[in-house]
Amino acid sequence: MDFVSRCVKGGRDTRTTEPHQLPIYASSSFVLDTVEQGIDIFKGNTKGHVYGRYANPTIDAVTQRIAELEAIEIDQEAYGILTSSGMSAISTIVLGLLKSGDAILTQGNLYGGTTELFKKVMKPIGIDTIFESMSDLHELEKVVHANSNIKLLYLETPANPTMACVDLEALSAFAKEYQLITVIDNTFCTPYIQRPLSLGIDFVIHSTTKYLNGHGNGIAGIIVGHKKEFYQKIWQAMKLLGTNSNPFDAWLLNNGLKTLALRMDQHSFNSLELAKFLETHPKVLKVNHLGLSSHSSHEIAKKQMTNWGGMMSFEINGSVQDGIDFINRLQFCTQAPTLGDVDTLVLHPATSSHLNVDRELRIQNGITDGLIRLSVGIEKIDDIIADVDQALQQV
Ligand SMILES: *Cc1c(COP(=O)(O)O)cnc(C)c1O
Repeated sequence: MDFVSRCVKGGRDTRTTEPHQLPIYASSSFVLDTVEQGIDIFKGNTKGHVYGRYANPTIDAVTQRIAELEAIEIDQEAYGILTSSGMSAISTIVLGLLKSGDAILTQGNLYGGTTELFKKVMKPIGIDTIFESMSDLHELEKVVHANSNIKLLYLETPANPTMACVDLEALSAFAKEYQLITVIDNTFCTPYIQRPLSLGIDFVIHSTTKYLNGHGNGIAGIIVGHKKEFYQKIWQAMKLLGTNSNPFDAWLLNNGLKTLALRMDQHSFNSLELAKFLETHPKVLKVNHLGLSSHSSHEIAKKQMTNWGGMMSFEINGSVQDGIDFINRLQFCTQAPTLGDVDTLVLHPATSSHLNVDRELRIQNGITDGLIRLSVGIEKIDDIIADVDQALQQV
């Protein structure tokens, strides 16, 4: 072979034994041995890797692992579809399963991006969203009777930042009665703490960017389900919208998953310790933590979650400026607009995530001027408490 051709063609796989750790398959396509093999794969008769937007071995390994974790308590085999972000997991499932004229029934306190997606992208293309409280089933029945176009019930529990929960068992039974597809955003809990498929929910979605990755170094999302009749539709939407993940972010996610259980235990322990400390603090009006019996969702959480997770919020007795001052005085905790990382992250919703929400409406939803949201990390709890305490002393 010529020098020039040797340069072009070199670098094929030389491995002799299985790698101990998952490799990153940075290849946009895969070699077909024969034309017939290609036909079989494209027809869907055999499984195989052909093109990176359809599937990739690194991505598939991680996807399968998360699907198994979500489905550990159900008898059916589950499948997963890894996407480029949590938002694309949501848009892909909605566009894969609904059509113009269909409607979504959901709660008012969703992740901000999800509410915006439904209002600003789905509504203009004919997929309407009806926002209702999920606590009154009789009220929901009336809504479903009045709107025969509702096809999907979209849930998120616990919800940001007050940690309000909805009853998954009751709502999945309700949805079955009216033949609604159920989807839940399980980002805050991960399958280590909450397994909605075992409670009758059809689909779980995640922003794996958060706890599943855990280290704040990759963006991705996942859709997990066990109903094969829907799989082809959602996979097709992912493939044709091009909302696929990439091997590097999938690989980072795979690394993060190894310590998921250890991390969630420590997040849960630390957040409860911090909540107990804040509950008796003279400058704190209210603490929103599911482990406290004072939280209005404490009983629902006990029923459907195995631990509390790392998310919580609390109200400083003060103004918007007091909230700003508190955050600015923190030295150990980090101000960053994400959650689920190993280190403690804080956010002042009134001046960040809810900056553009009308003050009255914001306060109605429990997001008061002095509300602080915490994603409690896995550091030594004494360091977290000491930092929060010194910042509160000066308020
Ligand atoms: C972050 C987040 C999302 C969006 O995920 P991205 O990975 O940022 O696209 C959706 N739902 C919840 C609960 C989130 O916290």
